[in-house]
Amino acid sequence: MLMTKEQYIESLRQMKTRVYMFGEQVENWVDHPIIRPSIECVGMTYELANDPEYADLCTAKSSYTGETVNRFTHLHQSTDDLIKKVKMLRLLGQKTASCFQRCVGMDAFNAMFSTTYEMDKKYGTNYHDNFNNFLKMVQENDFVVDGAMTDPKGDRGLAPNAQKDPDLFMHIVERREDGIVVRGAKAHQTGCINSHWHIIMPTQAMREEDADYAVAFATPTDADGIYMIYGRQSCDTRKLEEGADVDLGNAQFGGQEALVVFDNVFIPNEYIFMAGEYDFANMMVERFAGYHRQSYGGCKVGVGDVLIGAAALAAEYNGAQKASHIKDKLIEMVHLNETLYCCGIACSAEGQATEAGNYQIDLLLANVCKQNVTRFPYDITRLAEDIAGGLMVTMPAESDFNSDLVVGKNGETVGEICNKYFAAAPSCTTEERMRILRFIENMCLGASAVGYRTESLHGAGSPQAQRIMIARQGNLEAKKALAKNIAGIK
Ligand code: SF4
Ligand code: FE
Repeated sequence: MLMTKEQYIESLRQMKTRVYMFGEQVENWVDHPIIRPSIECVGMTYELANDPEYADLCTAKSSYTGETVNRFTHLHQSTDDLIKKVKMLRLLGQKTASCFQRCVGMDAFNAMFSTTYEMDKKYGTNYHDNFNNFLKMVQENDFVVDGAMTDPKGDRGLAPNAQKDPDLFMHIVERREDGIVVRGAKAHQTGCINSHWHIIMPTQAMREEDADYAVAFATPTDADGIYMIYGRQSCDTRKLEEGADVDLGNAQFGGQEALVVFDNVFIPNEYIFMAGEYDFANMMVERFAGYHRQSYGGCKVGVGDVLIGAAALAAEYNGAQKASHIKDKLIEMVHLNETLYCCGIACSAEGQATEAGNYQIDLLLANVCKQNVTRFPYDITRLAEDIAGGLMVTMPAESDFNSDLVVGKNGETVGEICNKYFAAAPSCTTEERMRILRFIENMCLGASAVGYRTESLHGAGSPQAQRIMIARQGNLEAKKALAKNIAGIK
């Protein structure tokens, strides 16, 4: 069953999710001006799924029931499904110009489905059934699920069990007949507050000594003992200014990250997907990360499309659109952006069925995709800032442009003076010029920069994480053999 955006927002109000921001508990977080744009952004995943124009991309037939489900809750059944996923994410990036958050759950579902299958095969456990029952429930209710992997990790030089504070990695503190009790936290959790459920996964490969840290499970977001501390975004308090609009750059949509704390949370047996099988932690991490690295070949490309469009408009508004260097910079931005898309499509087209039956991306190509994403959006934002000009970061506030305060000898107001001196080409009003510059500021430096620029570096794993996978998957020995063969070396 598909939920509507309105039903989704209403469903969040029914939850008892505990949220803290600026040192205080936020009771009505659904309507909080800092949080609401991120809810609207997830809302777009519901809106598009209900729109016949986008049904093919944004919905799928459940592999369990044959019913229509939101693609964000779907298990990929083919390379076509993998490609449609990338296209759906690009579309959503184009519609929101920010991080719409729901992909982490979809990527966790697909990694968990195949990993639990292989775990059960080795250990005779019941995790795959547990997971299937959980996902069926998610599909039926069209829930948003946070796929949570990253632990705070403390001293990076020490294993989980060797940390001074054991809570720096999520771990099992008690094993009971009816379930486990877990303790720890997950950091940088995208979309965690406005998710109905969480899927928790181990953060890295584990050894035997770390068996209690090899834990995966599902839990409702408002379970007893879970709370969240909101992550700040650049320029976030602009959202608290009365009547703020132009200065927000993107007044409608935004991303969301928070620290999710698990203060001795009870997980019933039926929601456990791993509890000590440390030799499968790495598989889960590699697969989830692979899917999420594929995701970036879609979502970041969609946001890139909007940024390129905004830069082209800024050039027009400045009257500079005919300059050859501007045209060339826009070409370079398109080239970089489409290269990322090529990677997203390629790792999908080269995908293969897992033992469990769902489809997985080509891991090497997905890691190459994300490695490029750690670089190209930086070049794209540099070019956007180049084209936009310095006014993007020096112009007065919206309230100045609207001010009636008289300052001039002939009775001119602050607003009139701002509008006079920041007017540019006749193709735009001064306000339109401000709007596009603030919008570029938002994507390059402001609230959406979390989801475009810095997240391009660290989201789905920092650059070094991909290089490790590229080293593992690159098959240097086979390449040496090719060279030896042709060079005549025995
Ligand atoms: Fe989805 Fe991209 Fe946000 Fe990750 S960064 S949750 S892939 S929109
Ligand atoms: Fe992300």
